[in-house]
Amino acid sequence: MNRGVPDLPRRAKATFAPDTPEPDRASAAGTERTDGWLPPASASETGEPWRTVAGMRRGIGMRLLISVLIFSSVITLIMTAVQLYLDYRYDVELIERRLNEIGEGYPDIIGESLWHLDHEQLRIEVESILKLPDIQAVSVRETGTVNPLVIADRRRQSTPVLTRELPINRVVEGTVKQIGTLYIEAALTDVYRRLMGEALIILVSQGAKTFLVSLFILFVFSRLVTRHLTAIAQFMRRYDFHRPAGALVLKRRPPAAPDELDQVVMSFNDLCTSLQLAYRNLQAANDALAQDVAMRIRKEEALREAEQRYRHLFHNMPIALMQMRGNFDLFPALHDAGVIDLNAYFDAHPDVLRRLMSAITIDEVNARAVELFHARDAAQLTGPAGRLWTESPSTLRRAFESRYHGDTRFEEEMKVATLDGRVIDVLCMLSRARPLGFHTPTLCALIDISERVRTRDKLQQLETDLAHAGRISLLGELMASIAHEINQPLGAVAASAQAVQNWLNRPEPRLDEVRELTALTLASARRASDIIVRTRAMAGKGAPRRDLLYLDEVIDESLMLLGHEIQTRGAEVWHRPAPRAPRIMADRTQLQQVIVNLAVNAMQALAPLGSGNGKIALTVTVPASGTVGCMVEDNGPGIPAENLAQLFNRFFTTSEGGMGLGLAICRTIIEAHGGRITADNESTLGGARFMFTLPAGE
Ligand code: ADP
Repeated sequence: MNRGVPDLPRRAKATFAPDTPEPDRASAAGTERTDGWLPPASASETGEPWRTVAGMRRGIGMRLLISVLIFSSVITLIMTAVQLYLDYRYDVELIERRLNEIGEGYPDIIGESLWHLDHEQLRIEVESILKLPDIQAVSVRETGTVNPLVIADRRRQSTPVLTRELPINRVVEGTVKQIGTLYIEAALTDVYRRLMGEALIILVSQGAKTFLVSLFILFVFSRLVTRHLTAIAQFMRRYDFHRPAGALVLKRRPPAAPDELDQVVMSFNDLCTSLQLAYRNLQAANDALAQDVAMRIRKEEALREAEQRYRHLFHNMPIALMQMRGNFDLFPALHDAGVIDLNAYFDAHPDVLRRLMSAITIDEVNARAVELFHARDAAQLTGPAGRLWTESPSTLRRAFESRYHGDTRFEEEMKVATLDGRVIDVLCMLSRARPLGFHTPTLCALIDISERVRTRDKLQQLETDLAHAGRISLLGELMASIAHEINQPLGAVAASAQAVQNWLNRPEPRLDEVRELTALTLASARRASDIIVRTRAMAGKGAPRRDLLYLDEVIDESLMLLGHEIQTRGAEVWHRPAPRAPRIMADRTQLQQVIVNLAVNAMQALAPLGSGNGKIALTVTVPASGTVGCMVEDNGPGIPAENLAQLFNRFFTTSEGGMGLGLAICRTIIEAHGGRITADNESTLGGARFMFTLPAGE
């Protein structure tokens, strides 16, 4: 279920596991829940500061210690060097000052002794100089004599030294004369020793101080900083997103004002809160994602199952199925160009139709399709689909039209040629999935209806025969009327011919009269012929045909056949035409049959009223655009309510000697023309009302 979903918590746990055993953490969490989180006691808190120091060997404490030591040592060394240098300078200055003092005091005294060559005195003076601090050697040398007197004394030999050679002068006979030289040598050994001692004291004391101060700094640093850093680190390491700990609290006396550690702790706590929030959001997102993924998986599975079901159905359906594909990229451009009548467009652009036809391919067919086409295998049927439409190319045109208008379904009967050379009747049903794209595949189902078509043709034939029989029976009923109708013009023809003969037999034949009478004869003969032609047409057994007709014309022709009948029965008949009504596509004779039938029925119903009282109205209407209607109303007794439902059933009759076929034939004819016929008692004349509607043919 969690496939593909990041598993952060588990990963976090895995990271913690080696360091922190689960039970410890649980107990820690238990404490945290009640008191807030406290870090475990550090070494320093358990009274073992040196372990802390030892633990800090690799930590910043040790680095701090080393840094402080190095820095302090360097500073101490520099300061000591400066101090020693200053002391050295001071000591050397002291020695020099001493030498200067010797130079100021002793030469005169020594000059006196030297002048008198007082060896003893000279030695005393030399030794007194030598006793002075740092003086290492003193000598007095007489100058200006061949064998000079030299008094010298030396304590010890060492380097380096400061020397001074001072002249010993004596005023002899009023002039100052150098009688000797006082040579003094001062050693720096003591200075150096002093300086060494001083350096040693400074270094030892400073070193010890530096070390102790550093240790103290380290201890203070550990107390104030590092142990808290360790506690923070432990807190972070043990932090579990599953069971978030309380806020991090440092175990120390709170400072007067929040210091840097407090800021760090506050920042950590804020960070933890934000992380918790982010984690919760992430978890919510994860859950949503997991649900989404699960839902997608379920959907995918459902889709796969549906696909499998579809494939199973496709291949095992007992009707032939083909999956077809075409290329209808062209349609949007045609729509944009304002093409509405695609059929007319195809007439003007046969190349477009060819292109569309050639683009259709059959991707897949089922076993029943292979069987239907008598193919060896499915491969024989897949590929270009042209073969499918050779017998009914107009069906393909209409299929294109339906797709052009965005219809997802198309259904039509058509003929297809099978691979073994037969032509069979099929019901072709095309189904297209929505949304209808340029390349959306079409599922084509073909049902072999050859048997049904044969039966239907037979039925149609039977119905035509029945209608014919009905007409013959009608004509039988009208025969007297028709004979009378024909007899009238024939009588007129005979009378006119007699008159012509009379006129021609006169000594002076009146040719203008003859011409007039001949024209009359001709008109009467034509009228008789006309009636015979119509009667023959009614009696004929021709196959139904469709012509564009005005319903009013058909009514006029029918009334002509009924003329004498109407007269005999003394009925009043109105024809209310609708001059604006569109034409209908119909079989003239069959429509005449309907109208004559309805009118004869009305006249039969009017019989009880007695001659001269019957009224019949035939009205043509346009009930809706594209529809033409006709109402036949009478003022007869109407139809009993219980008969209304079965009026159009075959063999239903209430009249003696009636066959009960007239209205059934009317319904068959009207429905074959795509119309409807109904009956009620809503006649404006007070009797029955029969209405039929037919689709306009233009
Ligand atoms: P038939 O005329 O042989 O009886 P039809 O099918 O023509 O057969 O008529 C069936 C029945 O419908 C008639 O018997 C009659 O009862 C009823 N019918 C037909 N037209 C009318 C009408 N105008 N008024 C009353 N009843 C009618």
